[in-house]
Amino acid sequence: MYVDMLLEAARVVHRMAGTPEMRRAYELLEERNRVMRDWTNPFRFLVQGSRNTPYVVEFTKKGWRCSCPHFAYRKRPCKHVCAVCVTLVAPREP
Ligand SMILES: [Zn+2]
Repeated sequence: MYVDMLLEAARVVHRMAGTPEMRRAYELLEERNRVMRDWTNPFRFLVQGSRNTPYVVEFTKKGWRCSCPHFAYRKRPCKHVCAVCVTLVAPREP
């Protein structure tokens, strides 16, 4: 449910505050249009990192997940998940 996603986003922003992942997420967000919505799925986002292909960030029943190797290895929110969560909790003006 969409509200669950927003609540989990707020939790990530709170829990990850001050971590290297969150710091890198803010660096990512300084550049515009890095976080894109997938308009066919409200729980799916595309995050343009340093590579050409964007990573897929999704909110699932098990929580946030990302297609990047950092997430697969660490099993905790990566900068892409953090960037999506910040965007959801505190969206920027267009
Ligand atoms: Zn990631």
